[in-house]
Amino acid sequence: MKPVFYQKLTETSLQGELLSDACCEEILSSPAVELLPLLDAAYQVRREYFHNTVQLHILNNAQNGNCPEDCQYCVQAKTATTDIDTYSLKPMSEILAEAERAYQSGAYRYCIVMSGRGPSTKRVAQLAQVIQTVKSHFPIEVCLSVGLIDEPAARTLKAAGLDRLNHNLNTSESHYTNICSTHTYRDRMDTLHAAQSAGLACCSGVIVGMGEDNEDIIGVAKELRRLEVASIPVNFFLPIAGSQLLESFTAQRSVPTTLTSESFTAQPSVPTTLTPDYCLRVLCLYRLLNPEAEVRVAAGREHHLRGMEVMSLYPANSMFLDGYLNATGKEASRTLQMIEDAGFTVETNGNISEHIQHTQNNQVDVPLKDIEVLRPRIEERT
Ligand code: SF4
Repeated sequence: MKPVFYQKLTETSLQGELLSDACCEEILSSPAVELLPLLDAAYQVRREYFHNTVQLHILNNAQNGNCPEDCQYCVQAKTATTDIDTYSLKPMSEILAEAERAYQSGAYRYCIVMSGRGPSTKRVAQLAQVIQTVKSHFPIEVCLSVGLIDEPAARTLKAAGLDRLNHNLNTSESHYTNICSTHTYRDRMDTLHAAQSAGLACCSGVIVGMGEDNEDIIGVAKELRRLEVASIPVNFFLPIAGSQLLESFTAQRSVPTTLTSESFTAQPSVPTTLTPDYCLRVLCLYRLLNPEAEVRVAAGREHHLRGMEVMSLYPANSMFLDGYLNATGKEASRTLQMIEDAGFTVETNGNISEHIQHTQNNQVDVPLKDIEVLRPRIEERT
């Protein structure tokens, strides 16, 4: 594509106009759209609203596993066979200690996540207490992910000081029945509407790599724009053994339609074939369609982006620091170093400098090659 194509992408986004579905499809799949100029087009938009700052989030699984729902991508679902640790709501002291650690680690936002379909009225009251306590101890933003809630529950949480409610759309309405049967896309939308009616800012995102089409990914990005959500986590499906989705991919030996077969060869044990190139295109698309939203490169960052992980900072202005719900991520210090090395700065209330291992001027342990590596074919060693 000529430079004018990429300039037009940036201009359209900055002028608050919508890209056509055909253009979005090109961004995701046309070899004529080259990755580097596309990243630059998305970066121009990111820079306009977020400069070179990065917001870090730390997740706390406040309640883990034993979920009666059957979301196929989730290892906490009743249908998953993954051997995870399960527990009910953690005591306040534990949640508070973890909030302190998140604050000290430089997290901008502390995300409290509970497994389950949705909280009871009693649980909402407990969570309101948790939120009030965390907010009164630390100057950190709090986001809560608790499944389906109605407007009275949202009002209680808002009154307690909750900054944001997370509830992902995950995929399009037409694909939703393929990934979950115990609740509907409409249920999810109702929760977002309840939160917005209560005056809560919403965080809602997508999971890419669940057998959907490009059309579904484009549709979700446009729906999130219509909803004016403040924050969009873009997750890339993590193929954790025991999740229903992975099992069905393996059983069918099916390749999700958004994916190409080439990288299946590169990672034969991974049933999804997301490539770093494709993941970056998705991030660029979400930035261009949602110029003012916090776009987060979320689960699957390390796994799917691999050596191109740092490029995600150009469209995205947010990431998780300490891993994901049930999967570990890259060491926090290495993520912080990556951000700094690329010339971005962490937006934080805490002091993070001690977590970054500055290596430039310090002596580090560089392992030396031994003789077996230097001379693997020598016949006789003296
Ligand atoms: S995504 Fe949430 S509702 Fe769905 S199975 Fe997992 S914990 Fe339960």
